[in-house]
Amino acid sequence: MSAFEAAAPIAGVWREGGSAAGKESRLRMMSDGTVSIWSADGTVLAEASLGSIAVSDRVGSIPRHLAFPNGGDFETRDNDGVDRLQARLGRHRGFIHSLEGFRPRLLIFVALAVALCFAIYRYAVPALVEVAVWVTPPAVSEAIGKGVMLTLDQLVFEETKLAEDRRETLKAGFDKLATLTPRGAGAAQSGVQAYTLNFRGGGKIGPNAFALPDGTVVVTDELVDLAKSDDEMILAVLAHEIGHVDHHHTLRQLYRVAGIAALIMMIGGDIGSATEDVLTQGAALVSLSHSRGAEAEADRYSVELMHRAGHDPAAIARFFELLRDRFGLADGMDFLSTHPATQQRIDETRRYATEVAAR
Ligand SMILES: [Zn+2]
Repeated sequence: MSAFEAAAPIAGVWREGGSAAGKESRLRMMSDGTVSIWSADGTVLAEASLGSIAVSDRVGSIPRHLAFPNGGDFETRDNDGVDRLQARLGRHRGFIHSLEGFRPRLLIFVALAVALCFAIYRYAVPALVEVAVWVTPPAVSEAIGKGVMLTLDQLVFEETKLAEDRRETLKAGFDKLATLTPRGAGAAQSGVQAYTLNFRGGGKIGPNAFALPDGTVVVTDELVDLAKSDDEMILAVLAHEIGHVDHHHTLRQLYRVAGIAALIMMIGGDIGSATEDVLTQGAALVSLSHSRGAEAEADRYSVELMHRAGHDPAAIARFFELLRDRFGLADGMDFLSTHPATQQRIDETRRYATEVAAR
């Protein structure tokens, strides 16, 4: 099969090597990688293989130069045309190179590299995450907490519309829960607050509650409204969030995402601003859902803490039942996607509540 024209011709000016006089001409590329320069009267002025031509970089709308091996130069303003040509050139070269470069040893090297990356992902990242969690100073957690709240207040949240006495009641219940936690007890002795409760209008995130690594807990008006006057339900959700903080779930998840991003950077060489986004943007942090194991751990934490505070230990299960009855199982709203109300979860929490209550 003979070669066919592989791209639209590119119009430009041809100069022979050392000559200042240019000639209006066209550059044509054939499917076999041959590039030729044609004058207006149909004469071939030069011909070379695609790979032997040096192409100047694209800089704004500055004309491009294609230097031919015979010393000739083709100048054109058709930047897109040259880019298309270069794209072909890249493929052409890549293909030839891969054919030339194929060696079994290379394959083994690639397999080893993949295995190494997997091992890092599987073992090193979790280990490093644990170390990072334990050495993170409170000041860093506070900085993350403040940054996230600032971002969320700007992007998502509205001011709370809950009545002040309603907020006071819930806050009193929350503070009581907080003093019953190891962190809260220690903090109370030194006169600081380990956990702070914040009320916000949820905006587009709707009914939700979450906790930041520094002990900042946020509950949206929408979630409070959902529970109506059943304050125990709300306190159970807040106890669940305190559990996420006490078990360092949020910090761990944050480091895990940052660690994986760093791994991608190691492999790909470029990560854009993903790590930065994860570390600074609240929206990203809140959208991080915890693992199923972390959720179960926080559920059990709620059961235990509620029981210790003299509340119904099964209140968290009641909340999930409410979600199930209102919105169906594990479907729909944000809170459900990060806190899925599965029947298994309800059953397990109820069973654990019975167990704890019988102690
Ligand atoms: Zn949770």
